[in-house]
Amino acid sequence: MAASYTFSCDCGAVEFTVEGAPKVRGFCHCADCRNFLKVPYHSVDVWEKDQLTVNKGEDKLAEFQHPEKKMKRFFCSECGDTLFNSNSADWRVVSQLLVRRNNDGELPEALAPQSHFYYGERIVDIDDDLPKKE
Ligand SMILES: [Zn+2]
Ligand SMILES: [Zn+2]
Repeated sequence: MAASYTFSCDCGAVEFTVEGAPKVRGFCHCADCRNFLKVPYHSVDVWEKDQLTVNKGEDKLAEFQHPEKKMKRFFCSECGDTLFNSNSADWRVVSQLLVRRNNDGELPEALAPQSHFYYGERIVDIDDDLPKKE
C-alpha cells in the first residue's frame, strides 16, 4: 500500500491527504518561491496534483493566483495558514515545516530532503552534504 500523509491548517478547518512518493523533496532556492512565499528558501515535498485530496473544509480552501507567474497559494480562509502552493507544472508543493507540524515535529524518512535546487539564485549559503543544483 502506498504511504499517505494527512495535514491540516492552524485552525483545523481544512485537511488534505497526499498519497504515494513525492516527485521532489528538498530545498528550493529560486527567486519565485522567495518572493511569492516570503521565505529565504523553501523546504518542500512536492506531489502531483492528483496525488492530493482535500478531505475536509474544501469550501474554506481559498486560492490566490500569482499576478504574473503560474503559481498559486492555497490557504485557509479561517486562519490564513498556507496549506500548499502550486508551481508552473501545477504540482502541489507542501512545506516540510507543515509536514513536521503534522507529524509530531518529525520529518518522515521518505519525505526527507535529497538536494538543493536553483542554488544559483540563493540568498543563503548552506553548508551541508546534500547535492546542490543550479
Ligand atoms: Zn485554518
Ligand atoms: Zn522555488
